Amino acid sequence: MPRIRQLPPDVVTKIAAGEVIERPASVVKELLENSIDAGATRIDIDLDAGGTELIRVVDDGCGIEPDDLLLALAQHATSKLTTADDLFQIGTMGFRGEALASIAGVGQVTLQSRTHAAASGCEVRCDGGAFTPAKPWNGAPGTRIEVRHLFYNVPVRKKFLKSVATELGHVCEIVTRLALANPALHITLRHNGRLVYDIPGSAGLLDRVALFFTGEVRDALYELDSGPGPLRLTGYIADPKCDRGNAKLQYLFVNGRWFRDRSLAHALQESFRGLLMSGRYAIGFLYVTVPPDKVDVNVHPTKSEVRFQENSLVYSLVRGTIKHRLLKENLIPQLSVPR
Ligand code: ADP
Ligand code: MG
Repeated sequence: MPRIRQLPPDVVTKIAAGEVIERPASVVKELLENSIDAGATRIDIDLDAGGTELIRVVDDGCGIEPDDLLLALAQHATSKLTTADDLFQIGTMGFRGEALASIAGVGQVTLQSRTHAAASGCEVRCDGGAFTPAKPWNGAPGTRIEVRHLFYNVPVRKKFLKSVATELGHVCEIVTRLALANPALHITLRHNGRLVYDIPGSAGLLDRVALFFTGEVRDALYELDSGPGPLRLTGYIADPKCDRGNAKLQYLFVNGRWFRDRSLAHALQESFRGLLMSGRYAIGFLYVTVPPDKVDVNVHPTKSEVRFQENSLVYSLVRGTIKHRLLKENLIPQLSVPR
């Protein structure tokens, strides 16, 4: 047996990157979440070749202090957590302090930022693990980050990338989730210089649904609201006449974060029992609000799954609120509703 050795930092970074950075869409997700945490009201995304050649994200958020710029790219460096207790009260999209370091480990990164109070900003670059010292940058307040040649130094990962169209499709899905989770955000996406989305901040949830999924879906929606309280469900379901052959139009959010949850997808589907043919799926945009200490988002490196402290309560809330709404629309015969 060879002796045990501590791994060198560049290998550690690549291993960590493997968990969160799978494809261009993962980079876009991490960058958008950072912009949202920075309080951005507008985010512009530019991609070349599905993001494999270039991903650029520009925001008008709070910006980064010049002295912190290199630290932003370091591993386990974050402004969002200070103590372990904070982990159980998370109010930001990020907290692991890993994304930028991981991205810089597998792509060529230029990070430019300026705080709103500063007269000018600063720029740093990271290429193959080598950092260039900070230099002045004269851009608008906010943060601008460019990631070029993703996986240039990880040939196996590069080989697993799909066609440009497929990679762009994954990015579009990330943008859709973020735009639905943040209905006041102005967000644009350009691909090879061509505008894909321009969603103004004034376009609310219903406009966004129409934009991403057609006006037909928007017009079939019924609003949900379980009423005020520490645990609340808001959002929309569609009339059962407007169903789908897959579950793609079932979007779940908790405290502004998109997540995947088989149990709640089941609650949605169960509420429509008897109203859909077999093999057909309900449409739903469900927004759960819970106190941050009642949901653990630190379950999965990409945070796409969460754990509720009171899972059955959330399940009943979703099922009960949707059933109630369908009943109100006279879609469920009164007698078939269990007491
Ligand atoms: P995390 O988001 O988990 O803190 P990241 O590696 O994604 O970790 O980012 C590291 C730090 O860099 C953040 O905590 C934040 O302080 C800063 N940062 C990153 N992106 C931005 C941005 N767009 N605007 C302002 N600050 C940012
Ligand atoms: Mg982050």
